[in-house]
Amino acid sequence: MASTPPVSRYPARAPDAPGLPARRAALRLLDAVLRRGDPLEIALHGASQGIVDRADRALVHAIAAETLRHLPDLDALIDSATRNRLPDDAKARMVLRIALVQALVLGTPPHAAIATALPLVDGGPRKLVHGVFGTLMRGTATLPAVPALLPEVAARWAEQWGEAMPEAAAKAFVVRPPVDVTLRDPTETAMWAERLGGESLAPGHVRLPAHDAITELPGFDDGAWWVQDIAASIPARLLGTGEGRHVLDLCAAPGGKTMQLAAAGWSVTAIDQSAKRLTRLSDNLARVDLSASVVTADLRDWAPEAPADAVLLDAPCTATGIYRRHPDVLHRIGPRQIAELAELQAALLIRAADWVKPGGTLVYATCSLEQAEGEAQITRFLAENHAFTIAPPEAEELPQGVTATAEGWVRTLPLPLADKGGTDGFFIARMVRH
Ligand code: SAM
Repeated sequence: MASTPPVSRYPARAPDAPGLPARRAALRLLDAVLRRGDPLEIALHGASQGIVDRADRALVHAIAAETLRHLPDLDALIDSATRNRLPDDAKARMVLRIALVQALVLGTPPHAAIATALPLVDGGPRKLVHGVFGTLMRGTATLPAVPALLPEVAARWAEQWGEAMPEAAAKAFVVRPPVDVTLRDPTETAMWAERLGGESLAPGHVRLPAHDAITELPGFDDGAWWVQDIAASIPARLLGTGEGRHVLDLCAAPGGKTMQLAAAGWSVTAIDQSAKRLTRLSDNLARVDLSASVVTADLRDWAPEAPADAVLLDAPCTATGIYRRHPDVLHRIGPRQIAELAELQAALLIRAADWVKPGGTLVYATCSLEQAEGEAQITRFLAENHAFTIAPPEAEELPQGVTATAEGWVRTLPLPLADKGGTDGFFIARMVRH
C-alpha cells in the first residue's frame, strides 16, 4: 500500500530570495561581534558559511563593518523614528541598522535594502521595521559627514589625549586609509615610488592611494614589497641594520616586522604562539625570498638558549590603534580588556628584557591608543629595571611627520599626517641594556 508522506507540523520556510543569505550572514556576524565580542575578521568565516561567491562575502563584510562604523548615528536615526525606544539588542533594531546602512552608506536602492531586511525579522515586528524605514527614507534621512564615536570611546580618548583627539579620530574613521608598502630594498625607494605612482615618507616606504587589487600591482609577485602601515614599520626601523647580528622577533606573526628585520640583514628568530599565523609568516617570507628561524611557542613558557643582540616585542594588544580598518575593535574593547592585555604585556616585557645582551637593544611596540598599553607600561618598566634606559630615535630614523615625544618614545595619533591619509595608532619605545 502506498504511504503518504507525513505532513510537517510547521510550514517550510520559503527559499531565500536572491541577496538574502548575505544579509542573514551580516546579521549573524554583527551578533558575533556585538554580543559575543568576537573579532569581525575571525567571525566572518563562520557567519558566511554556505556563501561561496566572493562578491557576496565582501558584501557581508561591508554591511557589518559599515554598520559598526556608523552605529551611534544609525541608532540616533532609528530612535528619532520610534515612539518607544527599541532595546539595543532587539532584532528589529539590528535589522533596521542593516537596512539603513545599505541605503545610506553602501548605495543599495532603498526598496532592495528593505526587501532583503524584512525576512530577517522572522516572527518579529515586520510592520514596525517597515514603518520606521519608510519614515526615515521619506524624510530624506542622512548620516553626518563625520561619524559619532561611541560615547565611552570618545570619553576614554579625550581623557588620555585631550578633546581634539576624538574629533580627529572620528574624521579619520570615514577616510579610506591609504596603502603603505615597505620595500625589501630601501635603496630602490625613488624607483618604486615612481613605478607605483605613490609618495615616499621614509626610506623603504611608498604610500599609495586606497586600492582594491594590491596584489596585481607591479612588484608584488616578485616580492619587492609588502603592505604595512607606516607606523607599523617604525619598531623594526629603530633596530637599524643587523649585519648578521641576532634578533628575537617576539609575537612575530604574520611577519611584517620579521620581513623588515631579515631584509635589514638581521639573523631573525621569529616566535609566535599561533601556528596558523606562523604559516602566513612563512608564506610571506617565501614570497619576498627572505628567511628566518620560526618557532611556535607561548612566550610565557619559552626561553632562548642565549641572550640576543636585539629583541623586538610587538606585544598582543587591544588593537584600538587600527580602528580605521577594524571598526569592530571599538565595540569589543573596554576597560576590562585593556587591563587584561596590559597585564599580559607587562609579563612578556619582563621576560623579553631578560633575553637582551648587555649593550643590546629592546624595542617594545603596541598598535593601541590606550596609554595603559604603551606609556604606562614603559614608565613602570623603566622604574623597576634600572639596567635599561630609553634611546630616543633621531629625526632621520622616523618617517616624515612623526616625531619622538619629550620622554624619548614614539606615539602616533590620528592628527599628525592627517593631511596625507593618517597612520595607525602606535606606541613604540626603544631601550638599551647597560
Ligand atoms: N609582529 C607581527 C607583525 O608585524 O606582523 C604582529 C603581531 S600581533 C600584534 C601579536 C601576535 O602576538 C599575534 O600573532 C599572537 O599570536 C601573538 N601572541 C599573543 N600572545 C602570545 C604569547 N603568549 N606567546 C607568543 N605569541 C603570542
